[in-house]
Amino acid sequence: MLAETIKQVIRDVPDFPKPGIIFKDITPILLDAELTRKIVNDMAENYKDKCIDAIVGIESRGFWFGIMLANKLDIPFIPIRKKGKLPYKTMSYKYDLEYGTAEVEIHEDALQDNWNVLIHDDLLATGGTAIAAAELIKMQNANVAGFSFVVELDFLEGSKSLSKYSENISSLVH
Ligand code: IMP
Repeated sequence: MLAETIKQVIRDVPDFPKPGIIFKDITPILLDAELTRKIVNDMAENYKDKCIDAIVGIESRGFWFGIMLANKLDIPFIPIRKKGKLPYKTMSYKYDLEYGTAEVEIHEDALQDNWNVLIHDDLLATGGTAIAAAELIKMQNANVAGFSFVVELDFLEGSKSLSKYSENISSLVH
């Protein structure tokens, strides 16, 4: 089964980026072109009839599968980046982290009114980052059509906080 294969390939990196954290590293998936293709095809199958107009990917690991999926579905891909990285005029959203704050941005002309937009990232933890992406989509008068992740850390219950934006939350492995 695809989920089992993905679980075997993802690498746990202890104490990254700081002591006590076990980081789920999905880069080994990308070393395997066939597995990568299967994942993109699986995601595309899931979304092909859902009337998605565009995919927003969150910097930077959300770009990897986000771009491939958008291309497979033949729809636009839009990057959300950390503050100061996008060259054109932006809209930004600030959110709280465990310690301090973070700010993400989207180009102000990226989305069209009423587009149904799928948010993609590599991993769902607390949900703060995905919520920031959802808020940026709403600021551009578009709709959050759903959330797509490669990995979801169920014990952090991030999906609970996302459900007010969309009930369509899909993760390949838990
Ligand atoms: P959240 O905002 O708490 O849901 O954290 C999710 C964000 O942090 C995503 O953008 C992830 O890329 C990143 N992240 C947190 N933990 C990990 C991990 O173990 N592996 C890969 N990315 C992670």
